[in-house]
Amino acid sequence: MAKTIFEKIVDREAKADILYEDDHILAFRDVAPQAPTHILLIPKKHHARHGAVPPEDHSLFTHLFVAAQRVARQTGLDKTGYRLVINNGPDGGETVPHLHLHLLGGRPLAWPPG
Ligand code: AMP
Repeated sequence: MAKTIFEKIVDREAKADILYEDDHILAFRDVAPQAPTHILLIPKKHHARHGAVPPEDHSLFTHLFVAAQRVARQTGLDKTGYRLVINNGPDGGETVPHLHLHLLGGRPLAWPPG
């Protein structure tokens, strides 16, 4: 199956502004930011979406959220607040079929989302 753009970023076949990396997670700036700070965190291992992660890889959920906490501190968002979002499937607004967590901040964010 063809690689997603995020797999290409993991494999360094596509460029990204990478902010954080560990054994399991890569974090990079969203190319079309929806807030002054908009960062994507992805597991390096491919899973299409939140609902597709099997039990044997559930530890990736912890890795994603812990990395988001680190990147929020690294970027100063922990001081002003931030939002974490996962878009899952068509109604969720998912456009890239590789599980990713959006970290958004740098301005007050409206609620509810559109
Ligand atoms: P979603 O709609 O939740 O699937 O989010 C996909 C996100 O990936 C969008 O916010 C896009 O702007 C972002 N995106 C797509 N291609 C790239 C890329 N090459 N580098 C960084 N972000 C990207």
